[in-house]
Amino acid sequence: MHGLTEAEARLRDRAREVAQEAAAQAAATDRSEQYPWPMVRRMTEAGFLGLTVPKEWGGPGLSYFDAVLVIEEFSKACAVSGRIAVEANMGAVGAIMAYGTDAQKKVAADLVLRGDKPAILITEPEAGSAATEMRTRAVRHGDSWVIDGDKTWITGGGISRLHLIFARAVEDGEEKGIGGFIVVRDGEGMPPGMEAKRIPSMGLRGMPEADVTMRGLMVPDSMVLRPPGGWARGFGRLMDAYNGQRVGAATVALGLAAGAYDHALARAQDRRQFGRPIAEFQGLAWMLADMSIDIEASRALVWRAARSAGPNGFPDRLAAAQAKVMAADMAIRVTNQALQVWGAAGYSRDNPMERYVRDARMFAIAGGTAQVLRTQVAEQILGRKLPQTRDGFLRAAAE
Ligand code: FAD
Repeated sequence: MHGLTEAEARLRDRAREVAQEAAAQAAATDRSEQYPWPMVRRMTEAGFLGLTVPKEWGGPGLSYFDAVLVIEEFSKACAVSGRIAVEANMGAVGAIMAYGTDAQKKVAADLVLRGDKPAILITEPEAGSAATEMRTRAVRHGDSWVIDGDKTWITGGGISRLHLIFARAVEDGEEKGIGGFIVVRDGEGMPPGMEAKRIPSMGLRGMPEADVTMRGLMVPDSMVLRPPGGWARGFGRLMDAYNGQRVGAATVALGLAAGAYDHALARAQDRRQFGRPIAEFQGLAWMLADMSIDIEASRALVWRAARSAGPNGFPDRLAAAQAKVMAADMAIRVTNQALQVWGAAGYSRDNPMERYVRDARMFAIAGGTAQVLRTQVAEQILGRKLPQTRDGFLRAAAE
């Protein structure tokens, strides 16, 4: 692959090798809808979780770009494994490594290096794209905070140990802004005051999605994540960290498309109709050509976004949004085209194509929808705020 150093190519090849094991269990994981613990243990032993954890915290200190190479290989084989690699390297762990205290960094590093896939809790039933309308509150009582609220579509709810909860911080009866609160599940069950209820989902069925309720959940002040700039800038800073996860999600979409394309390419050469391989029909040959162009273009944007991250920083906001929009839309298109190449066989649950189609659907929704991210791109290329509330422009003009 063009543009990789020897070390990067070695890492990718090693991931490709272990990903064969992920491919072998992907269908069973999809059918059982069980989180693939044996695969998680294998990925942990192979060192693919906590790749981005700095050396001083016991990790190898690799880059977001290195993580992207690993995530693509796993996602080609099994997108659930790919998502595990995203969340054990980016998102919550990235935010804690950037903004956390030493004690918080140690907790997060130890957990992901031992195979935890952290959960990030932002979305609420009434606050999806409008995340800042969240109602979950954390009220300070001396050295502790008490959290009450409802979150939804929380990836890993019920299996994750490390939780990064976004909530409105209330101190001395006054709302300060949105902050991050770290909660660790120690034993088998959920911490007192926290419950998870699984949501049945269309794709990526081995990865639990859950409604999470919090009632009187206690968090010590030492577990409050305080990004620089204080409460007022807290949400923005936490969302900067989320750009890493966006690039990770774009990489899973890319890997899914590339995996489906490989299957389609092989099938087009093997399957014969009218006495010739179906690859000889121009309708299919051009479809395969378009798929390859789509995948390469997405990979270029994903790599550019991943490489935009500085040593301790996060990927560039514009580059991350562009990559996520492109890869998410592309994965829906390409996985459907791959199924088309397979014909009826692709529609059977005995073949992986229908799983690729289902698995690809979420990336234009989760982590910023394709529409909301287009607005983010527009804001940045236009260099102006595009408020989404009805009175947003009036309020901006009055400021
Ligand atoms: P809504 O905001 O209700 O949007 C509905 C539709 O309206 C969409 O098409 C949207 O694009 C469009 N729309 C809304 N506002 C605008 C606008 N201003 N301009 C144009 N169009 C608009 N959240 C977490 O916090 N943690 C997780 O781990 C997590 N994992 C997820 C995993 C999966 C599989 C899924 C599906 C979701 C996950 N989410 C998670 C939630 C996800 O981030 C939200 O679904 C997303 O932010 C969109 O919110 P919504 O679904 O409520 O859609």
